[in-house]
Amino acid sequence: ALPIVAVVGRPNVGKSTFVNRIAQADEAIVHEMRGVTRDRSYHIADWNGVPFKLIDTGGIEMGDDDAFQSSIRTQAFAGVNEADVIVFIVDGRTGINADDEEVARVLRKTSKPVYLVVNKMDNPDTMDQVWEFYQLGLGDPWSVSSLHGNGTGDLLDAVVEDL
Ligand code: GDP
Ligand code: MG
Repeated sequence: ALPIVAVVGRPNVGKSTFVNRIAQADEAIVHEMRGVTRDRSYHIADWNGVPFKLIDTGGIEMGDDDAFQSSIRTQAFAGVNEADVIVFIVDGRTGINADDEEVARVLRKTSKPVYLVVNKMDNPDTMDQVWEFYQLGLGDPWSVSSLHGNGTGDLLDAVVEDL
């Protein structure tokens, strides 16, 4: 079986944009799987000749606050259980919020490799925004722009080393 990279994070941080940049076009294996783990799509990807499966754990619907927080937790747990490596995406433009902290709380407990990825860093001159993410307790943040591709290559070089 192919190794699995799970992409987790609250809505709108850019998970799907990241996955679509990396996955081979139109290679979604399971487009939508509803249930406890919510919608997730599985994609095939390849970097430096290393093939792997990418899970986009998207599709959380907004409910009341408690339900929303617990679905974020559930999604993060499911990603961690399935994955060999976890890519945790946060939004460099908005900074840390309570939902990021919720996901981070789950991820700090796993012994699997976790990559903390600060997305939407489209402009290399604004790297100051990255430092606050050290507070999440998940090590060095990786700065990327999933929209333009900045930083994604360096990140993937490191990720596939862990597979
Ligand atoms: P998801 O809910 O985590 O899957 O997030 P999406 O991939 O749907 O992205 C949410 C929004 O952020 C969309 O409008 C994207 O175009 C935008 N977005 C994603 N990545 C970037 C980025 O690197 N830079 C900028 N400026 N916008 C981004
Ligand atoms: Mg999405």
